[in-house]
Amino acid sequence: MKKKDSDFMRRVAEEVPEVNRCYQCLTCTLGCPLVFAMDLKPHEILKYVQLGDKEKVLKASTCWICASCETCATRCPNEIPIVKLMDLLRQEAVAEGVVTEQGPKVNDAFLAAIRNLGRVHELSLIIDLKRRTGGLFKIDPDEIRLGIGMFRHGKLKLLPIKIKETKTIKNLFSRLEKQK
Ligand code: SF4
Ligand code: SF4
Repeated sequence: MKKKDSDFMRRVAEEVPEVNRCYQCLTCTLGCPLVFAMDLKPHEILKYVQLGDKEKVLKASTCWICASCETCATRCPNEIPIVKLMDLLRQEAVAEGVVTEQGPKVNDAFLAAIRNLGRVHELSLIIDLKRRTGGLFKIDPDEIRLGIGMFRHGKLKLLPIKIKETKTIKNLFSRLEKQK
């Protein structure tokens, strides 16, 4: 893949023309609940998309980790539909065959968390993802440092908290699976 991909830029311009409004204020990244697990932060994705660096954005884990929660889009001062952009990046990654091994596993781990708890518990998500990617016993000093920092700032709870209606969520998942 070339650095600046004009076909990619054309498709982005057609689907999400608002990306050019981004002026790197970081509001999206600061509000993203899953930024801790992303290698490129949402505002960085916007920057590399503007630059037409398809390789960089498609190789990133970001679009696979994104939970389409809309927090970023709601907070963006330029009303950029970031979730739509993430959808497009997933489609582009599949079309290009550059889906990282970790990508769909992140998706699976996230959905499993929602199915069981009705919400994400970051620590359980990280452990489950490491189990799925065979890295459960690999110790990464950077991840440990990040984890300690998050814990100190109250961003990493030791115990998960379930929502009340987990049964409803499980039923929804079952119905969707039967429709496949
Ligand atoms: S909040 Fe909007 S303008 Fe700010 S960095 Fe994110 S996408 Fe760009
Ligand atoms: S929609 Fe995705 S990128 Fe935006 S805040 Fe939610 S998880 Fe983060």
